[in-house]
Amino acid sequence: AHLDRIADVDDRLGAFLHVDPEGALATATDVDARRAAGETLPTLAGVPVAVKDLINTVGQPTTAGSRILEGWVPPYDATVVSRLRAAGLPILGKTNLDEFAMGSSNEHSAYKPARNPWDTERIPGGSSGGSAAAVAGYEAPLALGTDTGGSIRQPGAMTGIVGVKPTYGGVSRYGVIAMASSLDQVGPMARSVLDAALLHEVLAGHDPRDSTSLDAPVPSVVDAARRGDVTGLRVGVVKELGGEGFQPGVQQRFDETVELLAQAGAEVVEVSCPSFEHGIAAYYLVMPSEVSSNLARFDAMRYGLRVTPDGQLASAEQVMAASRDAGFGDEVKRRIILGTYALSSGYYDAYYGSAQKVRTLVARDFAAAFEQVDVLVSPTAPTTAWRLGEKSDDPLAMYLEDVATIPANLAGVPGLSLPVGLASDTGLPVGVQVLAPAQADDRLYNVGAALE
Ligand code: GLN
Repeated sequence: AHLDRIADVDDRLGAFLHVDPEGALATATDVDARRAAGETLPTLAGVPVAVKDLINTVGQPTTAGSRILEGWVPPYDATVVSRLRAAGLPILGKTNLDEFAMGSSNEHSAYKPARNPWDTERIPGGSSGGSAAAVAGYEAPLALGTDTGGSIRQPGAMTGIVGVKPTYGGVSRYGVIAMASSLDQVGPMARSVLDAALLHEVLAGHDPRDSTSLDAPVPSVVDAARRGDVTGLRVGVVKELGGEGFQPGVQQRFDETVELLAQAGAEVVEVSCPSFEHGIAAYYLVMPSEVSSNLARFDAMRYGLRVTPDGQLASAEQVMAASRDAGFGDEVKRRIILGTYALSSGYYDAYYGSAQKVRTLVARDFAAAFEQVDVLVSPTAPTTAWRLGEKSDDPLAMYLEDVATIPANLAGVPGLSLPVGLASDTGLPVGVQVLAPAQADDRLYNVGAALE
């Protein structure tokens, strides 16, 4: 049914870069046969899933939404993909994204924009825009995204679905093409809090192949998603993430959500996190610095596109330069240049060094807040989905969309965005974000379930 739906609507949604009907049907058939033979299978066996095209899959291309990896088929599966396969989830295909996950609208995909199922003239958010559009458009019941500065939660909010960024280190990054390694996390996208929790449980857990993977028990997210009880829970409303700069229709739904939590028995207080307003500035130095280093491996020597400049005898440097020029899009180049500059010896302390200090301050704000409250809440994004092209000429306007999501990545804490209705001013979905201390991902699902 999902493959039929993809065939029907994906030319309008652009959610997929690659569809694998044979592979998906083979897994589904195998699961059916094993179940018919009386085998007890994992809960999600047979439930199809879509995978962001930043995550390595044997037998299917992995392009990172970039021309530089066009047609590349990885020789190994990411750990999260191995886990999907072991749990019997048919993989429908690979979803569209901003190139190397850099963007908030999916307009920076080198192949095509993904579109919002609520209004196909609007963006689905990004960078996991294809995963969000696939789930919201009923092409897939579940999808994987990655979140470096909000790329699971923000497209979740824009398309009215649930999206979760787990605690940093909670889910393996092995086989996930790196954007900014100290910020990247893979997480679930789904149409309900419980669905997201079930997928989270498949993905999470220690992986010796990822040196930043936590060797700790996985939080009981499924139990929490079944509980949904906020009686006595202390909920902090982040003062700095609301009011000015937030669309009135978004703010209104958020205020109602806070009211609902109070009615359900939560103790709501206002909390101040003064360093959060510097989060974007710090992120747009730390992230490009890591990007400039991570993307150095796309050198046309080992894999991907190779362009030889005109003339017969080109040096290795000339081939690298020509290939990177042809293979990377403008936004990727902008970030590589910014990061290279920020890391250069004369400016390291002024830019990268300062940004790391701000990062510490953001983490301290979280630590202080979580002494007073169990979870924090805010709108996921300041606006609802905008029209394609509306912010394309103004990178800074696009970066401002991440104001509420970035602090969690800087501090490594988990965040969940869930839909809370349509904005009265635009008629488009609004998302509310719940944040919890590191390794307390279960709290997010408990609060999410209480609101659903
Ligand atoms: N929108 C942010 C950026 O452009 C976040 C991207 C992400 O989380 N992958 O960097």
